[in-house]
Amino acid sequence: MANVKPRVVVVGAGMAGLTAANKLHTSTHLKQLFELTVVEGGSRIGGRINSSEFCGDRIEQGATWIHGIEGSPLYKIAQEQNLLHSHRPWECMIGIDSGNPTTVAEGGHRLSPSTVHPISTLFKNLMNHMRGKSVDEDGDLISEIGKNCSDGENLSVGSFLRRGLEAYWGVSKGREGVEGVGNWSRKSIEEAIFAMHENIQRGYSSADDLTVLDYNAEREYADAIFPGEEITIARGYTSLVESLASVLPSGTIQLNRKVEKIEWQQSHEFGPVKLHFSDGTTLSADHVIVTVSLGVLKNGIHMFDPPLPISKNRAISKLGFGVVNKVFLQLPPHEQETKSPFLQMVFRQPNSELRHPKIPDWIRKTSLLYPIYTNSSVWVSWITGKNALEIESLEEAEIAKGFSTTTTNLLSSNSNSGKRFEFVKAMRTQWGSDPLFFGSYSFVAVGSSGDDMDVLAEPLNPQLQIMFAGEATHRRLYSTTHGAYFSGLREANRLLDYYNYRH
Ligand SMILES: Cc1cc2nc3c(=O)[nH]c(=O)nc-3n(C[C@H](O)[C@H](O)[C@H](O)COP(=O)(O)OP(=O)(O)OC[C@H]3O[C@@H](n4cnc5c(N)ncnc54)[C@H](O)[C@@H]3O)c2cc1C
Repeated sequence: MANVKPRVVVVGAGMAGLTAANKLHTSTHLKQLFELTVVEGGSRIGGRINSSEFCGDRIEQGATWIHGIEGSPLYKIAQEQNLLHSHRPWECMIGIDSGNPTTVAEGGHRLSPSTVHPISTLFKNLMNHMRGKSVDEDGDLISEIGKNCSDGENLSVGSFLRRGLEAYWGVSKGREGVEGVGNWSRKSIEEAIFAMHENIQRGYSSADDLTVLDYNAEREYADAIFPGEEITIARGYTSLVESLASVLPSGTIQLNRKVEKIEWQQSHEFGPVKLHFSDGTTLSADHVIVTVSLGVLKNGIHMFDPPLPISKNRAISKLGFGVVNKVFLQLPPHEQETKSPFLQMVFRQPNSELRHPKIPDWIRKTSLLYPIYTNSSVWVSWITGKNALEIESLEEAEIAKGFSTTTTNLLSSNSNSGKRFEFVKAMRTQWGSDPLFFGSYSFVAVGSSGDDMDVLAEPLNPQLQIMFAGEATHRRLYSTTHGAYFSGLREANRLLDYYNYRH
């Protein structure tokens, strides 16, 4: 190695990049074994973690939850750094915890638990079966469907779920006492409630359509979810990455340094890697840890010179990476709902002639709408896939109008006495069109598998010139902040092992 002190450059100051930098620094700084730099294309750290403000409230534009606190390293950091308490309210989505949503259907029908519960339970049980978890009702039915499906090649989550619904209808034809609601037939309302759950699932996975989400990968993913409560971070998710970054000497993180090209070596004559930035400058390194999103890798086919090996490119193109955006909406303060409803929205299916003409199409696959904390005048909704991309180019006023019209229609039942919901302001995230992300998080698409994530995680050569971290490189914890964290740790440890610096 020409340089006495190996030069390590981490590309990206998101969770994976900052974890890698934090680990490399804290493991070696006493002896100053590395020359460490983090280059970030954007003007802030955090990447897909971005706490900000909307109408005076603290909101999360990206990562929102710690998914399970037991065993979560992020929860541990948040606890140690006292990030879980704040004198100001924050986006904590209290309604989700209540487990008592108000389900409203197009045309202004508040649905009773007796209508919603059987379909919600069926859906939950189908998901649990896929994930190898116990099923509390409909057990025989679900294991029958499962028998026909479990060995299926290229089976999707979406097709399994629909088989489940068909089978349910098959055995429940003569169910007594279950009628339609208003001008909804029993079957149409059940299908629409089922679709509402599918849409929630689309948001969890980021897949635009559940028929592209791999069935077999669900179990591996579910096995890796941490147990325990799911929480949000009172001081903002960004405070977590700030805490990781705070140990780095000033100047280590360079913002607004967008990498355009990474020149690396394939031959035995290993010269340094050369990074080319968008401003025309360059930087040489012995080791580069690339943490950019799968979306950036998919779009950045010319980023590597020479190009990435075929196996790596194949994994990049096969794996799924979808768009999920959040929409924040403001009600005038005097219109705050004292009961802070947590709304589940049920819409007419595409083939229905009874669709309300003023409800925009882009909202129809959106299921949830709720205040970010009890009595907040700021509400939030999550939009996935093509619709998420579509709203990125809409005026925010149009989005506020679309939500106002829709909510007014959904809540127009007698009990609400025709009250009009008027959101006065909207703000939506734009993860899909942002060239530093090109989407929100990854998933195992039909035709790919966790093996592709392992391929993505492999360094390009034994000399560890180019290494890869980031949520999409973790075969069990992809799509999460803790997946990104562990991937950063993995690559830092790989480098420390290479130099025998791990104790
Ligand atoms: C709307 C939304 C909600 C989410 N909700 C949750 C949640 O509730 N819980 C959860 O666990 N996870 C959630 N996630 C996912 C989570 O945010 C990500 O999995 C995680 O933050 C990814 O971290 P990362 O380091 O792998 O990638 P990133 O955060 O994308 O970091 C990569 C960094 O590289 C930079 N970069 C890109 N290109 C270049 C370039 N050419 N040159 C230099 N720098 C570059 C980017 O600016 C970025 O800072 C959510 C994500 C979104 C978008």
